[in-house]
Amino acid sequence: MKELWREASKVGRGLWYVDKQYCALCGAEKGPICMTCRTKYLRSDLRRCGRCGKLVQSEKLYCLDCAAGRGPKQLDQVTAWGHYSGKLKEFIQTVKFKAQPRLIREISRPFSDWAISQLPAVDGIVAVPMHKTRLAERGFNQAEVIASALHWELGLPILPGVDRIEPRSSQVLLSRQERLHNLKGIFVVRQPEYYQGRTVWIIDDVTTTGATFEAVAGVLRESGVRAIYGLCLAAGLEKKLVPLSD
Ligand SMILES: [Zn+2]
Ligand SMILES: [Zn+2]
Repeated sequence: MKELWREASKVGRGLWYVDKQYCALCGAEKGPICMTCRTKYLRSDLRRCGRCGKLVQSEKLYCLDCAAGRGPKQLDQVTAWGHYSGKLKEFIQTVKFKAQPRLIREISRPFSDWAISQLPAVDGIVAVPMHKTRLAERGFNQAEVIASALHWELGLPILPGVDRIEPRSSQVLLSRQERLHNLKGIFVVRQPEYYQGRTVWIIDDVTTTGATFEAVAGVLRESGVRAIYGLCLAAGLEKKLVPLSD
């Protein structure tokens, strides 16, 4: 009976309190994201690089990579909610590797509010697709779960018809150039009619080199997409700063 009650109260908490009471990242009170985690990981005090989304530490700055011409080519802008470290990194890894997609629900409101404050509203959103073999292993595509949260909160349509046709080999040890090359030809737009003249957000969980965003954006451009913005939960932090080049 005790067990049953514990389970029932867990369900009750899930239904009523989970969005408001506890921080989704550290479990402290005063969620959905507590002040400590906001300060440490979301860094709203820091500007994002206007091209690649990395967090930079001053106004009117691009990160070093973008200033040197190594930024996104196919995207108008990439932006990230927070810094990929600590509890935010743990949260994203728990979602992905411990099969907890429902946790995304706990951050859907603050993440969506932030997204619409950073990027122009668009005709639709596209989740970075996962190859069907990987999808079968994991059971869900975290980018799709995040896209669903944005759809639910902001009412933006989810655009179909982009597929990943090659499974991804491990990218961990590759340079950005190698990653870009490695990702060539692995995405395809099956239904280009959805994309001609449209504006879209591409959604992923994390960006490191931006190579995945570039590869998806490349095929969307070929299908006639007019403006493309990349949006993810977390990106790296740029430490070296350079002045705005234009
Ligand atoms: Zn917290
Ligand atoms: Zn940059």
